Amino acid sequence: MKLLRVHLINPSDLAFGTAVITPRWLYVLAAATPAEYGTPSIVDETLEPFDPVSVAPGDVVGIGIHTANALRGYAVGRQARDRGAFVVFGGIHATLFPEEARELGRAHATVSGDGDLIWSKVLADCAAGAPLARYDGGRVEGDTFLPARWDLLPADKYMWGSVQTVRGCPKHCSFCSVWKTDGQKPRQRGVDAVVREVVELRRKGFRFVLLADDNFYPVTLADLAAARRRTDGRQLATLMALRQERFDLMDRLSRLPDDLVFYTQITMEAAEDPDFLTAMRRARIRGALVGVESVTAEGLKAVYKDFNDAGEALVTRLQAFKAHGVHVLGSFIFGLPTDRPETFNATTELAQRAGVSVAQFVMLTPFPGTVDFARWEKEQSSGSVDGVPLTRYWLIPSARRPKVYTPHPVMSAEEIRDLTQRAWDRFYRLPAVWERSKCVTSLRARVTFVLISKLYRQMYANTGIATDSARQARSARRARLIARTVRRLFIAAPMPELQEPC
Ligand code: SF4
Repeated sequence: MKLLRVHLINPSDLAFGTAVITPRWLYVLAAATPAEYGTPSIVDETLEPFDPVSVAPGDVVGIGIHTANALRGYAVGRQARDRGAFVVFGGIHATLFPEEARELGRAHATVSGDGDLIWSKVLADCAAGAPLARYDGGRVEGDTFLPARWDLLPADKYMWGSVQTVRGCPKHCSFCSVWKTDGQKPRQRGVDAVVREVVELRRKGFRFVLLADDNFYPVTLADLAAARRRTDGRQLATLMALRQERFDLMDRLSRLPDDLVFYTQITMEAAEDPDFLTAMRRARIRGALVGVESVTAEGLKAVYKDFNDAGEALVTRLQAFKAHGVHVLGSFIFGLPTDRPETFNATTELAQRAGVSVAQFVMLTPFPGTVDFARWEKEQSSGSVDGVPLTRYWLIPSARRPKVYTPHPVMSAEEIRDLTQRAWDRFYRLPAVWERSKCVTSLRARVTFVLISKLYRQMYANTGIATDSARQARSARRARLIARTVRRLFIAAPMPELQEPC
C-alpha cells in the first residue's frame, strides 16, 4: 500500500486567528483516519489559511463544505489537485451537489451523509490509486458516532469545546435542511461516550462546551401525549426511553466539575417541560439557541413552525427558560413575506422584553436541501450575476453576492438588509448589552458577556450582512482583537487528573 498523508480542511474566506467553537467534524474525521496513514494534518481556515505547499503528490485532501463556504472550498480543491493530491469533498453541500464539487472543486470523490464509518474505505481506495466517484456514508446510529481526536487540537486557539449527543430532528421547518439530511429520527449517543469526551476537554482546560446537536429536546410532552392518545404502546415506549436517556445524560453532566458550562440548541417546546428545564439547570446547561424565527403567528406559519408561540405567549415561553437559569440565544428570521417594516422594531423590542440574552437576526435565505429552496428554485426563472444564475448564488464571489434572494411583497431587498443591520445595531448597543449582562453575577462574567456579545455581532452582522467592504474589513480586525482577549476569559486551568463520574 502506498504511503499517503491525510489533510483535513475546513474552508473559510476569513481567518480570525482565534475561533469560538472547535469545528468538530475535523477532529471526528481525524479519529476515523486509520493509524496506518499517520496523524492527519488539520487546517481550520477560520484560524489561518491553507498553504497548498504542504500537500505532496498522492496525499488525500478532505474538504468539508456547507453552502456558505462551498466557493472557498472549491478553490482549495483546485489547489490541492494541482499539487497532485486526491481530492475528496464531504459535508452537506457536497451531499446535495456532488457534480458541482467534481466540476468546480476538481473532486476525485464526494462523500454523502456521515463520514464516521465510510472515511477509512475512501482512504483505502485512494491508497490503492482508485477512489470511487461517490461514497454514501448513510446515517450512522448513535452508538457508532466516533469520538473526536481532541489530542490534535492546537493550543490556545479555541474558546469552546464541542460534543455531539444527538443527530436528527423530528420537526420539518421549511428553511432548514437538518431534518432532510440528518433525518427525523433522533439518533442519540450513549451517555458514557458523551461524558468521556467532555472529561477529555475539561482535562485540557475547556470549561465551556457546546452540545453541538440538531435538537437537544427530540421528544416533547406533546409527542408523548399524542402517542398515549393513539394508544401506540411501542411508540410510547420508544419515546419514553429516548427521553429517559436525556435525563440520564443530564444527571451525569451534573456530576462533573462545577465550573463546566454547557450550551445547546433546543426547540421552544422545552419551555413547557419544567422537569426538563430543571434537569438542564442541574447539568449546568446555561444557554440554548432557540429558533424563534418570527414573532408573529403568520410568520411562523410561513416557515412551517407553528409549534412555536407568537406575541405575548412567546414572551412567557422565553422567560420560562430564563426562570430556570437557561439563557436564550434567540434566532430570528427577517424577510418573511408576512414581515412589514415595523416587524423589525417589534422583534428587537420583544427579544429585549422576553429576556433573550443574545440574539441573531438572519435574512431569509433559501438554503439548498430545504423546502424553501425547492420552491424558490422552481419560481426563479431568470436572474444572474456575472453569468452565475441566482439559483446557484453560493458560486457568486461574496463581494458581488446579493444579500436577499426572495422577492418581498412590500419591501425592497436593500430595505430588508438595512433594517436587519439596524436590528443588530439596536440590540447590541453597549447600554443594552450591559443591562443584559445582569444575567450573570460576577464582574468578570459580566465583562465576558459584553465581550462575547460584541464579538458575536462583529463576526456575524458586520461581516455577513454589511455591504460596505471597509466596514467588513474593520469588523474582521476588531473581531480578531476581541477574540484573543475573550479566549483568555473562557479557558480554565487544565485538570489532567480528572476522572469520569460514575
Ligand atoms: S430549524 Fe430546528 S426545529 Fe426546525 S427542523 Fe431544523 S433543527 Fe429541527
